[in-house]
Amino acid sequence: MLRTSSPILQPIREKVEAGERLSLDDGVLLYQREVPLPELGELANLVRERKNGNFAYYNINTHLNPTNVCVYRCTFCAFRADLRDEKGYWMNDEQILARGQEAVDAGSTEMHIVGGLHHQAKYDWYRRVLSVLHEAYPELHLKAWTPVEIDWFARQTQKPIRWVLEDMIDAGLGSLPGGGAEIFHPEVRQQICEHKADSARWFETHRTAHELGLRSNCTMLYGHIEQPYHRIDHLIRLRDLQDETGGFQTFIPLAFHPDNTGLSHITKPSGPMDLRTMAISRLMLDNVPHMKAYWIMLGVGTAQVALAYGADDIDGTVRHELIYHDAGAETPEILSVEAIRRLIEEAGREPVERDTLYHRVERDGSQWQTGAEIAVG
Ligand code: SF4
Repeated sequence: MLRTSSPILQPIREKVEAGERLSLDDGVLLYQREVPLPELGELANLVRERKNGNFAYYNINTHLNPTNVCVYRCTFCAFRADLRDEKGYWMNDEQILARGQEAVDAGSTEMHIVGGLHHQAKYDWYRRVLSVLHEAYPELHLKAWTPVEIDWFARQTQKPIRWVLEDMIDAGLGSLPGGGAEIFHPEVRQQICEHKADSARWFETHRTAHELGLRSNCTMLYGHIEQPYHRIDHLIRLRDLQDETGGFQTFIPLAFHPDNTGLSHITKPSGPMDLRTMAISRLMLDNVPHMKAYWIMLGVGTAQVALAYGADDIDGTVRHELIYHDAGAETPEILSVEAIRRLIEEAGREPVERDTLYHRVERDGSQWQTGAEIAVG
């Protein structure tokens, strides 16, 4: 039983305590200012601790954005470059392998790979990004390509999404990241990224990936032009697919960073809005095991507090993050393992290193191996 008792929250509190599912109307109500944030956090924490106890997970990972040149022009994106742009780049095998070596030397268990849709890069180059890494560093889990990229590859090859995913698995693909989701509702999507893969294509990609045995993550980009209704609609669409497949591991709410984007007039979401969105996401997505407080976007302090507002994962050490730093993120580009563990402990949680697929990681000096799969209540 919870200690707090604001009348506006009473019906929802009863549902959460009974383990009942929240409706679209419930979710929209939770965004009203009259709903006290600390009480909302307390409810989300109840669900978080039911599922994940006092643990807070992290991994040792490295990012690779093999090109920033992109045919699309999403209004919220500060990362992309035009073909002849000074800041545009396109990595060769040597550069990609150097990044892999750096990852392995740093003890990374995962490489997170996403990037632009280069006008001149053929499908075989994108496939090769995975195959050269996988052949050289088979122990490194490759979490790669959003549905926007998979959709692009399907267009390039004139093949179905299933074929692309199977071919990428053959090249070394281990799981899918959660990006490219933005906001699914067409009222918003049409305005911020009208040309790239739509929500139907996003869901087709993840459904097919789950059918092929891949696990994936899911995200929501909030704090730009969308309204609370669009956010809750977004979360319910994710919840529906999770009911079908059970393939999502982690939800990551992504706070919009406006600098250097086509939406630079918008003020970025406040700390309380970040915490409210984390808590509501935890309450709405009752079937997703993990919620990630992505410290790169939230800032370290808010990410720590978010561990009491529904989050049980803080992402990883991260190195070479470009996408949100191009958009004005002021966080460091890397945190040491000691710093990650300390910030989790400062928040009163027990740090646990995990691999991409949520197995415990056991280390002995520079060697590591995966242990048992992490159980979720
Ligand atoms: S968000 Fe992705 S698809 Fe859109 S412009 Fe940026 S790199 Fe391209």
